[in-house]
Amino acid sequence: MFDVLIIGGGHGGAAAALALRQKGFEGSVAIVTDEPSAPYERPPLSKEYLAQEKTFDRILIRAETYWDDRKVELLLGERVIAVDPAHRQVQLRSKKKLGYGSLIWAAGGAPRRLTCSGHDLPGVHSVRTREDVDCMMAELPDVESVVVIGGGYIGLEAAAVLRKFGKQVTLLEALDRVLARVAGEPLSRFYEAEHRAHGVDVRLGTTVDCILEKDGRASGVRLADGQDLPAQMVVVGIGISPSVAPLLEAGAAGGNGVAVDGQCRTSLTDVYAIGDCALHRNAFAGDAEVRLESVQNAADQAAVAVQAILGGAETYKAVPWFWSNQYDLKLQTVGFSLGYDEVVVRGAPQTRSFTVAYLRQGRVIAFDCVNNTKDYVQGKALVLAGMRISTDQLADVNRPLKELAAEAASPADGLVRTGRRASVPPLIRR
Ligand code: FAD
Repeated sequence: MFDVLIIGGGHGGAAAALALRQKGFEGSVAIVTDEPSAPYERPPLSKEYLAQEKTFDRILIRAETYWDDRKVELLLGERVIAVDPAHRQVQLRSKKKLGYGSLIWAAGGAPRRLTCSGHDLPGVHSVRTREDVDCMMAELPDVESVVVIGGGYIGLEAAAVLRKFGKQVTLLEALDRVLARVAGEPLSRFYEAEHRAHGVDVRLGTTVDCILEKDGRASGVRLADGQDLPAQMVVVGIGISPSVAPLLEAGAAGGNGVAVDGQCRTSLTDVYAIGDCALHRNAFAGDAEVRLESVQNAADQAAVAVQAILGGAETYKAVPWFWSNQYDLKLQTVGFSLGYDEVVVRGAPQTRSFTVAYLRQGRVIAFDCVNNTKDYVQGKALVLAGMRISTDQLADVNRPLKELAAEAASPADGLVRTGRRASVPPLIRR
């Protein structure tokens, strides 16, 4: 029996264990994870780790000895298959049972798979775990052409690295623009043009019929229109499904994730959920129920859950932020853009340093900043306060965002313009 049992050794699980010890919690703590490695950072998997610019040691969240030193027990390669809230215990696939005082469910999500024939052939890869990427890297020397399925951040990042290795890359996106689920059209068109300029064959509005097979391996992709794209590797980046089945089967409320309140409590007593799998009401999404798939969200929810376990009353209200690296482009996002009704471009995309601002009902809700850290840093205050700024002012690159924030906070009429409430449909981020 552990005083706090954490399921999932990713960003959320690791952050929760770290926070418990940093807050002076002396009870027993264990992390159960089905991966064979100590907690590591996931974002480099489609960036520096895939590009072989960072070794695995450099993406560990803490050195392996750290966990021992802090008396955090790591149960690696162990998968939880059932939760018994009445007896406060979880069952592992290895048949072991572990008791808990409090349970933190931080199991993230599993990559969505294609359902067409050939989806499980060797040579078809997801990019979610270290093992996925190690497997890709082992095959790469024998690969000339790759088809990437999915024009979200992971597909685009993988495409950028594969181009760097000189592979021929075709990227398929079912919708009419890349990043359609997470960004406005100006950003999508910019990244589409960048990938084309770097030699990626970007195909929009394109769906897959099946994965072709030769000698027991993937040999290409057949498109719905009958065209065949030969390739020795297929990379699938079409989102994740939250890993929540054991909790939902135990009676926790939820659906597309486990429902949690402002303190990350599920509907089961002393069971918390954080990170990619936690369905929560987010003030920055107009109080809609969302799952956020970002390191920020996993770390900040871990801190809130730990506070709640230790008797605090802090609620989750962190401003969302996110980043993506492709080629020499650093995208930094602050706020939550979905549900926007106006988009303003600050600066010229052709300079490769610009910002896209998003507004809902006249209030600033998010910024996507490309090679523009200044706007990212200064824009946060506008998003936090949900300020009303005119689109003309936002578009004026000669007006620093901090100046606009200061003006909006102390207008000539003395009214402070803040507030953010609007109803938007349920959203999934990333
Ligand atoms: P995870 O980090 O996924 O950890 C969950 C862990 O639980 C996994 O190890 C999983 O194997 C394990 N697990 C699942 N089920 C069980 C079970 N039943 N029993 C035991 N263990 C289980 N975010 C950003 O903010 N910026 C980025 O640039 C960025 N890039 C990314 C690039 C890639 C390739 C990927 C995959 C993700 C990226 N993300 C990025 C998203 C970010 O990594 C996730 O939002 C974050 O890892 C979520 O943390 P988590 O703890 O909720 O889940």
